[in-house]
Amino acid sequence: MTSETPATYVIPPPPVPALPVRGTDSLFPVRRIYCVGRNYAAHAVEMGHDPDKEAPFFFQKNPDNLALDGTFPYPDASSDVHHEVELVVALHKGGKAIPVESALAHVYGYAVGIDMTRRDLQAEAKKAGRPWEVAKAFERSAPCGPLIPATEIGHPDAGAITLSVNGEMRQSGDLNQLIWKVPEVIAHLSALFTLAPGDLIFSGTPSGVGPVQRGDSVDAHIDGVGALGVKVV
Ligand code: MN
Repeated sequence: MTSETPATYVIPPPPVPALPVRGTDSLFPVRRIYCVGRNYAAHAVEMGHDPDKEAPFFFQKNPDNLALDGTFPYPDASSDVHHEVELVVALHKGGKAIPVESALAHVYGYAVGIDMTRRDLQAEAKKAGRPWEVAKAFERSAPCGPLIPATEIGHPDAGAITLSVNGEMRQSGDLNQLIWKVPEVIAHLSALFTLAPGDLIFSGTPSGVGPVQRGDSVDAHIDGVGALGVKVV
């Protein structure tokens, strides 16, 4: 096959996951989804860990785990699925070993996301020293709102980040409580992986994580970024 020959696929290529950009008809195509663990001290404590600043650690969800239609189907194989509201960072430039000082120039924009977690399966994985994919990277485990370009809102580093279930506040933190700030997260992540345009980073969740049930209405909000409503079905 030469470069002039169009590629043929033996099955239809899968669709490109993408986030809508608020106020436009344009889409942001998603390449990878990285997530930061224990990035708010109070959440580290509630999960039974030391809140001292340890190096950030990362796990991934799959791009096709994004759920964009305002519903979250309660997943199979779990009876303890938790909500984790997070600031989502979208990159339009990539690289390796990105310095903290220039990290924000790689950010296209921000969104409100929820890192849905099968907590029972995560607890089993932790106990057995196994990876977290079954707990984190399952179908529609990443509800996410539209992207807001940084050209409109700048780079939020303070402001309320909240999540309520059926009108009752469950999580209430502030972006200024992030242990590793967004530029530091990008710097650390780019020391481990070659980042590229289209990458998303779920930046971690404040305390107050807890279970959802079918029928729940989940409302997430980040000051200056927006709101995300999700119905558990
Ligand atoms: Mn999380």
